[in-house]
Amino acid sequence: SIFKFQHKHTETEQTGRDNTKKMKIEEVQSTTKKQRIATHTHIKGLGLEVTGKAIPLAAGFVGQVAAREAGGLVVDMIRQKKMAGRALLLAGPPGTGKTALALGISQELGTKVPFCPMVGSEVYSSEVKKTEVLMENFRRAIGLRIKENKEVYEGEVTELSPEETESVTGGYGKAISHVIIGLKTVKGTKQLKLDPTIYDALIKEKVAVGDVIYIESNSGAVKRVGRSDAFATEFDLEAEEYVPLPKGEVHKKKEIVQDVTLHDLDAANARPQGGQDILSLMGQMMKPRKTEITDKLRQEINKVVNRYIDEGVAELVPGVLFIDEVHMLDMECFSYLNRALESSLSPIVIFATNRGICTVRGTDMSSPHGIPVDLLDRLVIIRTETYGPAEMIQILAIRAQVEEISIDEESLAYLGEIGQQASLRHAVQLLSPGSVVAKMNGRDGICKADLEEVNSLYLNAKSSAKLLQEQQDRYIS
Ligand code: ATP
Repeated sequence: SIFKFQHKHTETEQTGRDNTKKMKIEEVQSTTKKQRIATHTHIKGLGLEVTGKAIPLAAGFVGQVAAREAGGLVVDMIRQKKMAGRALLLAGPPGTGKTALALGISQELGTKVPFCPMVGSEVYSSEVKKTEVLMENFRRAIGLRIKENKEVYEGEVTELSPEETESVTGGYGKAISHVIIGLKTVKGTKQLKLDPTIYDALIKEKVAVGDVIYIESNSGAVKRVGRSDAFATEFDLEAEEYVPLPKGEVHKKKEIVQDVTLHDLDAANARPQGGQDILSLMGQMMKPRKTEITDKLRQEINKVVNRYIDEGVAELVPGVLFIDEVHMLDMECFSYLNRALESSLSPIVIFATNRGICTVRGTDMSSPHGIPVDLLDRLVIIRTETYGPAEMIQILAIRAQVEEISIDEESLAYLGEIGQQASLRHAVQLLSPGSVVAKMNGRDGICKADLEEVNSLYLNAKSSAKLLQEQQDRYIS
């Protein structure tokens, strides 16, 4: 479960007070792009010795020794804050583990460090501005660790005199939308501000003067009240101005740590787009609600985040933004990136490319990897090398194990050959159809014949391109 800042725009907007104060944290959905990294789940780090030397097979990583060691140095630079304003570029042929390397780096930085993969061409959409796409991905790569100290108090409900109520509310009483109840604890009577709806709920539960109730406080602020400390009946307290509960009367204590990204918070607090007419309501029923994240909302989220950081409740966790096929970006994107890298709120940006010298998109300027020189100047470049058959077989064996597919030596060697001819990715992708075919043929494990069958069914990118060229006249162009 993750948190959400619930924006209550009632009295504060009317009074003109800072309404981010009314944002509250509550459960939200994580928006991590899980599918994109599904094929890399075996990568657990860079697999380096303490000296920084790469262990040939460790942390799920096979070979690519020089690149892993160079990656380890970058991790050290990040830890020493020497990568500020700079970025990393992984340059190498397709299928040489660039994504795997970027993921390994992010895992070396910590297990809860966000990793956001994207492809350069993602910025081109007819609906969203290019810089908006980049901004969203930047925020997916910045984590926030929220530490909450939950404490449960026990106390007896008492009646307050009008004078006591007066002294807590500063003369406004119910007019400021809080109801005060008295709470007799070991150390004396405390006044508790409750939202009227919770007060009503307590009445419904027949909570009366003299009853014992439990209060959960979250880093000092009252969060929930219930008749038992299991909070079978949960009442969410809306009161953000609370009377601090007395120290030393804690019944139970629990520390809860939640990891979210800035984008999770943006998405959870965004309002559904479109009006309230029948058509748009129907549209919302047909497909998941589309939400609009505005600059204003992001600024409000930033304000709340900053307040949490100042209060010591939350801590920023810069993660890794991985942009594959960086040559697909154009000048507008590059200048945005140049600026974004300067920001104090920047994640570590890792670019990847398989291009040599080519033109910067949208210009007639030619440059290494299609990246403008001013950005190139900021880059640390790591080269990745093509795998030999033995390495490919080792990687395939690891993937088979992770996917719980049994496969014999001969089949692995054959798959390795396919990998050499087509690509490693293609060979990895044949594993699961291979195991389906094996099952259809009444076997538990894959044998070479199964792979021959699936290999004849699917074209890899290279053979598909060849076929297209040979049969050009049969396709509409
Ligand atoms: P690139 O980004 O360079 O194209 P990639 O990281 O996306 O490469 P793929 O070509 O998709 O890698 O590799 C196929 C599979 O092999 C993936 O599951 C990837 O995690 C894995 N893989 C690639 N290199 C290694 C390696 N050196 N050790 C272990 N697994 C690897």
